[in-house]
Amino acid sequence: MKKQVKTDQYQGHDYYGVDELLSEEHLLAREAVREWVKQEVSPIIEDYSNRAQCPTHLFKGLAEIGAFGPSLPAEYGCGGMDEIAYGVIMQELERGDSGIRSMASVQGSLVMYPIYRFGTEEHRRHYLPKLASGELIGCFGLTEPDHGSNPAGMETNIVRDGNDYILNGAKMWITNSPVADIAVVWAKDEEGKIRGMIVEKDMAGFSAPEIHGKWSLRASITGELVFHDVRVPAKNLFPDIRGLKGPLSCLSKARYGIAWGAIGAALDCYDSALRYSKEQMQFGNPIGQYQLTQKKLAEMITEITKAQLLTWRLGTLANKGQATPAQISMAKRNNVNMALEIARESRQIHGGMGITNEYPVMRHMMNLETVLTYEGTHDIHLLITGMDVTGLNAFS
Ligand SMILES: Cc1cc2nc3c(=O)[nH]c(=O)nc-3n(C[C@H](O)[C@H](O)[C@H](O)COP(=O)(O)OP(=O)(O)OC[C@H]3O[C@@H](n4cnc5c(N)ncnc54)[C@H](O)[C@@H]3O)c2cc1C
Repeated sequence: MKKQVKTDQYQGHDYYGVDELLSEEHLLAREAVREWVKQEVSPIIEDYSNRAQCPTHLFKGLAEIGAFGPSLPAEYGCGGMDEIAYGVIMQELERGDSGIRSMASVQGSLVMYPIYRFGTEEHRRHYLPKLASGELIGCFGLTEPDHGSNPAGMETNIVRDGNDYILNGAKMWITNSPVADIAVVWAKDEEGKIRGMIVEKDMAGFSAPEIHGKWSLRASITGELVFHDVRVPAKNLFPDIRGLKGPLSCLSKARYGIAWGAIGAALDCYDSALRYSKEQMQFGNPIGQYQLTQKKLAEMITEITKAQLLTWRLGTLANKGQATPAQISMAKRNNVNMALEIARESRQIHGGMGITNEYPVMRHMMNLETVLTYEGTHDIHLLITGMDVTGLNAFS
């Protein structure tokens, strides 16, 4: 396969000295991931996105840089770092590509985290080291064809049969599912309670066909999960968690990572636009000399700076176990929308070149359309904030 060889000229931007709020460990983690993205992701990502293929060979590298479960305990082979370290790692990965960050988010926050939080000690010891090292790949099955924003309506179900449960139903839009060895699946039991379980790929009656035709997140593989009378041993169920709070707590963890990640995509778009604005000449001057271009760039760095501060504060709350789901919703919604707006403005600054894969901007823009929708849509997060401040539920 022909590789595109390009130099990644990205430089971080820190207008308010937010780096001073980070520890040496955070900065070292960021540097290591930034370097890895420059070496392993940037040279190939346009090509893989163009061909709508997932660079699955990067799973191993992601494991090696500690991108899978960075804030889960070291005794299970995970990173043992804090929530801000997890955030800066996601930011650098998404600076490369939202799809690459998704590969890591799903593995760490939606597969390893529920196993750590809700699994038995046997589940933790058996699965976590293998997931942290990339020996096993996981996926998370919550969304169904007819139940996205309202997962409480799910139809996938389990019925007890001796020492097993019989699982039936289908999940849709599942990141990594066609290449996953295990799936964390949420299904209703006979009492209508939502239960979580670990389903392994070779269980009879289980398949994970790929979804094709995506114009967004093209370097990330997405599929379905189809269950026809799949016999799941009762010991594969998470023993104590019942109801939506199980999957929602995993989503909070992942949304927190997305809040950081989206800033990475925004920074890459800003960085590219800033450089281009100094190089591209029109009417005898660099376009960056014109007030309308400066307005765009000034507004971009203002919004990025606000998001950096919001997210750092969220990280300090998360480290104390005090970040509420509604606070995480606010940051996810704000930062993803901010990144998408910046991608659009950056695309304008690049003129016609902005629509090509010579620059990362259009790819980020297309990716961010998914990020705006998955893990709770832009409007659903608004309603979560609305409910939090009014105490009134707009969903019922
Ligand atoms: C590429 C990709 C990867 C994904 N990966 C995963 C994964 O790994 N695991 C997983 O479980 N899911 C995954 N998802 C699913 C994702 O989380 C859902 O797409 C998302 O929750 C929205 O659900 P939906 O697509 O069914 O849209 P819907 O819920 O049908 O929403 C459609 C529109 O209606 C609006 N809407 C819905 N309800 C209300 C309301 N009460 N008030 C006002 N507006 C409302 C929404 O905001 C949205 O604009 C992924 C999705 C994509 C696109």
